[in-house]
Amino acid sequence: MTNPEISSLSHIPSSLYAVPERLLSWYSKAARRLPWRENRDPYRVWVSEIMLQQTRVETVIPYFHRFLAAFPSPEALAAADEMALFKLWEGLGYYSRARNLQKAAAAVVGDYGGKLPRDYEALLKLPGIGEYTAGSIASIAFDIPVPAVDGNVLRVFSRLTDSFENISLPATTKNVRAAIAAILPEKQPGKFNQAIMELGALICLPRGAARCAECPVQSCCLAFQAGHTAELPVKEPPKKRKSENRTIVICISPGQILLHQRPERGLLSQLWEYPNLEGFLSPQAVRRLLSERNLRGGSARLMQLPPSRHIFTHLEWQMRAYLVFTTEAFPPPDGFQWVSLQEVSRAYAIPSAFQAYTGQLERWTARFRSSDFSLPGD
Ligand code: SF4
Repeated sequence: MTNPEISSLSHIPSSLYAVPERLLSWYSKAARRLPWRENRDPYRVWVSEIMLQQTRVETVIPYFHRFLAAFPSPEALAAADEMALFKLWEGLGYYSRARNLQKAAAAVVGDYGGKLPRDYEALLKLPGIGEYTAGSIASIAFDIPVPAVDGNVLRVFSRLTDSFENISLPATTKNVRAAIAAILPEKQPGKFNQAIMELGALICLPRGAARCAECPVQSCCLAFQAGHTAELPVKEPPKKRKSENRTIVICISPGQILLHQRPERGLLSQLWEYPNLEGFLSPQAVRRLLSERNLRGGSARLMQLPPSRHIFTHLEWQMRAYLVFTTEAFPPPDGFQWVSLQEVSRAYAIPSAFQAYTGQLERWTARFRSSDFSLPGD
C-alpha cells in the first residue's frame, strides 16, 4: 500500500529501514505489562490513550481500572452522570478529556452502534481524538497502518535521523509522520507504534538521559553516530506561566463543608471548589469579609493554613488559605451549598489544585467535633 504521506518527505535516511525489525524484536521482550495491553479492545485502547495524555503511566493505572469497572462500555460511559464521571477523574486533571470522552462515547453509540469505527478518518472526527490518538487506536486495535506521533516519538525520531528541526512546529510532526509511514510494517503497525513509544519511555529518555548503551536501534541512530544525542530534540523553550495569588477560605460547620460550583466554561469548569478569591487576604481582611457578608454563623473561629501552590499548563496558583469553623451553618450565598463530608467524598469532584486542603478535611471535621476543640489565632 502506498501511503500518500511518503511522497511529502524529501529524504528518508536509509538507516531507518532497519529500525522496525530490531525494535519489534526488542519490544517483544522489553514491553511493560500494562493493563491496557492485556487485549486490543478498541474501547480500552481509547480510554488508556486519553488518560495517558500529559499523565504518567503509574498514575493512570488505578484510574484505568476504576474507570473500566464503572463504565465498561461506550454505552455505559455515554449514559453516565457527568458528576460521577468527574468524581472518577478527580486528581487526573485536564477534565476536558473526560468531557470529550463522554461526548465521543455518545457519538459512538449514536452513529456506530456502540463500537468504535474501524476507520482512521472517522476516529479523527470524534471529540477529543486528534491525529496521535486516532493513529494509536487505528493501529493498535484495528491493525490499520497509520503513524501515531506524540512527543516521545518526535524525540526518538529527531535522534534517529539526527534532525535539528524544531519539534514544536507542525511541519516537523508532518515529516516524522512521513518517515514512520515509510517504514511502518503492514503486519504489526500497532506493535511498531507502541514499540517506538516504549523506546521513548524506557531508553531514549529526554533531557540528556538517553540510555544509548542499552538501545536496540543504536546502530541505526544518526545522532548517536554524530555525537548529538544530548542536543536533540530541538524545541521551543516553555512559555512562562502566569502566576496568580489566591485566598482560599474553607468553611466548616458541624459535619459539612461549604462548596461552590465553578462556571460552565473556563478553567476547571463545573467542578466544585472552596470559596476563593483573587489576591492575598490577611486574617483581619477575611474576618471583615465574613462579617460584612453575614457569613459567620454562630461562633466562628479562623485559622490560617499552610500556603500551597498548584501548577496548571499555563498558569500557577499561589494559595494562602484559611479554615473557618462555624458552630451554625449560615445561609449559603448564591451558587454555594453546604455538603456533608460523606457526600463530598462520594460525589463532588474537587480539582487537585486544592488537594493540599481536601486531604485534610476529615481531620479538620473530626477535630471540630472533638471536645478539646481549640484554635489559635481567633
Ligand atoms: Fe535514542 Fe541513544 Fe537509541 Fe539513539 S542510540 S535512539 S539517542 S537511545
